[in-house]
Amino acid sequence: TQQQAITIAHQPGMTRDRHPINVFANVSSINHTQQAVNYGAEGVGLLRTEFLYLNRTTAPTEEQQLEVYQAIGQILEHRPLIIRTLDIGGDKSIPYLGVGLESNPFLGWRGIRFCLDRPLVLKTQLRAILRASFRHQIKIMFPMIATVAEIQAAKAILTEVQGELRQAGIPFDEAMQIGIMVEVPSAVTIANQLAREVDFFSIGTNDLSQYVMAADRTNPKVANLADALHPAVLCMIQQTVEAAHAAGIWVGLCGEIAADPLAAPILLGLGLDEVSLNPQAIPAFKGAIAQLTMPQAQAIVTAALQQDSATKVREIVNYEL
Ligand code: PEP
Ligand code: MG
Repeated sequence: TQQQAITIAHQPGMTRDRHPINVFANVSSINHTQQAVNYGAEGVGLLRTEFLYLNRTTAPTEEQQLEVYQAIGQILEHRPLIIRTLDIGGDKSIPYLGVGLESNPFLGWRGIRFCLDRPLVLKTQLRAILRASFRHQIKIMFPMIATVAEIQAAKAILTEVQGELRQAGIPFDEAMQIGIMVEVPSAVTIANQLAREVDFFSIGTNDLSQYVMAADRTNPKVANLADALHPAVLCMIQQTVEAAHAAGIWVGLCGEIAADPLAAPILLGLGLDEVSLNPQAIPAFKGAIAQLTMPQAQAIVTAALQQDSATKVREIVNYEL
């Protein structure tokens, strides 16, 4: 019933056999965060910070960013907030930052690649995030990591900023967790090495699918190929989860696929510790996993991984539910 659905939405994500999974929200504004809490989000698994940089002529200052991160932290109260550093490029253009036109923007100067080349932009953002971490439960996440050198370079800049804040007597959370998005195929294949560098992974299936299938997610002629339920992608999610757990770190997923009701048993069965999805999709996701046991979800995954198309994966899930 409607009442049961509302009750489940505001309880922690849990299977019928009491296996917990954190159900977080993807958000990109202050209002959106309030909506996420209303829909039963247990935290924010992906704050897309690009919105702070859009519709302006200069980058937002440290104080401007701090204000927004604090406002979002206040709405979330005790709930965790994972802030992703600027992921400009690809389909997101911000003219004053000077990325310019590229012939292959999704293979170009985006995310962490841009930020490592423009350390002042990154440092301003890191200072604001660290300062907000003093009063709010914040974790930081770097996008588009493809190599160990990139995460090491990002961490070196973070360490530098932490040193500056300490020197100035500005407080921040010394134990703040650091994570990366796993959304480039190379990150999956070297996940064991990357796991030694961070506290958590969050799998970005929007980009991972387009890169695994070599299909631009914004090109309608081929976008349907970039389906996160294709066994080729599921296999990479499985590999990432195994590498994370073998290294003793937690692993979530924040691609749009999590909002597909047919994906719920698969994401659960793959062993993810957290999923982050569109706020409106949270009640249905929690409702779906509340009907399932972990062994049922694992059996669905085993069957799904043996299929040769996303269509057949959907049929399997439909049949089993
Ligand atoms: C992703 O790539 O799956 C993701 C969550 O990030 P974005 O859609 O912002 O690139
Ligand atoms: Mg992405």
